[in-house]
Amino acid sequence: MTRLGDALIKAGIFVKPQEDIVKPQEDVVIEQEIDNTHITAHFTWKEALFLPTWNRVANENDGLSQEIKTNLIDIFGILEKIRSLLGNRPISVHCAYRPSKYNSVIGGATRSAHVQGKAVDFSIAGISCDEVRAILVPRLDELMIRMEKLNGSNWIHIDTNKTRPRYFIP
Ligand SMILES: [Zn+2]
Repeated sequence: MTRLGDALIKAGIFVKPQEDIVKPQEDVVIEQEIDNTHITAHFTWKEALFLPTWNRVANENDGLSQEIKTNLIDIFGILEKIRSLLGNRPISVHCAYRPSKYNSVIGGATRSAHVQGKAVDFSIAGISCDEVRAILVPRLDELMIRMEKLNGSNWIHIDTNKTRPRYFIP
């Protein structure tokens, strides 16, 4: 930029280049609509659909179907039971549904239950994940879930896949 150009910008004579104008994104509207909607009493659709690496919620364009939504309602219902089992402490959901494209980007297992909306990764403030796993192991049959045996990890993976064993090394 020339010295004259700088002077003109300072004087407010030059108009800002077009690229600087942020265009509204359609996703923002979808995200706002879904934010406050609860999937179950203590969890929101945003928690069920948020994709941390992409920093947005998943939508129909990612392959989100009614069947996947039904699976998510099911696993979050189980998460409610876990929440009450552990003294109603708030649960932090790390990730639940992962579109297959997202799953490959983050290096998830090809047949991951997350892709079907049948899995959730979470942690609970004030209890270590190893402690939570120890509490849940004897209840996996009753809760009808599988859980990953990942000693020392800072998240707990549960899913509603029917395969055995219920407590498994991923
Ligand atoms: Zn997981």
